[in-house]
Amino acid sequence: MSLVVRRSKIHNAGCYTNRPIKKDTQIIEYTGPRITVREANRKYKNATRTYLFGLDDEKHVIDGEGIAAFMNHSCDPNCEPDEIGGRVWIFALRDIKPGEELAYDYSLYDGELDDESPCYCGAKKCRGTMYSEWELKRRAKLRKKMALAKKKKAAARKKSAKEKKRAKKK
Ligand SMILES: [Zn+2]
Repeated sequence: MSLVVRRSKIHNAGCYTNRPIKKDTQIIEYTGPRITVREANRKYKNATRTYLFGLDDEKHVIDGEGIAAFMNHSCDPNCEPDEIGGRVWIFALRDIKPGEELAYDYSLYDGELDDESPCYCGAKKCRGTMYSEWELKRRAKLRKKMALAKKKKAAARKKSAKEKKRAKKK
């Protein structure tokens, strides 16, 4: 496989192929040390960009350091990652032409609410974010809950202010 890392139209650097790749080809492994989610959170607390890949056990991530870690997100990807026996491989979703940038759907999850993880992939059906559909639903629910809690708090504050006023009048 001849993959190269160079400047990407999507974001910073990207991963490109010099040769045609047939659909379903097992292209490259997402390599890097395995660390726990907790370790990763500590290590990258203030990082703006990480190359973490969440494993199916939801307890570990790969701290990506190979070429695959340079692959960008796309909402209309030509590749797809798959975990096989604890190792993550990138597969071709379709035939890919030489010179094409390889990208897969990051389907990010567990993001902070103030982090929108915007997407600039330029696909017609771009979600505008790299979060998964499931994560978007989770975030919407969480936002609603927080707004409701805020309203309740404000209402309680109003009520106690009113009661204070009443108490003063007496
Ligand atoms: Zn997109």
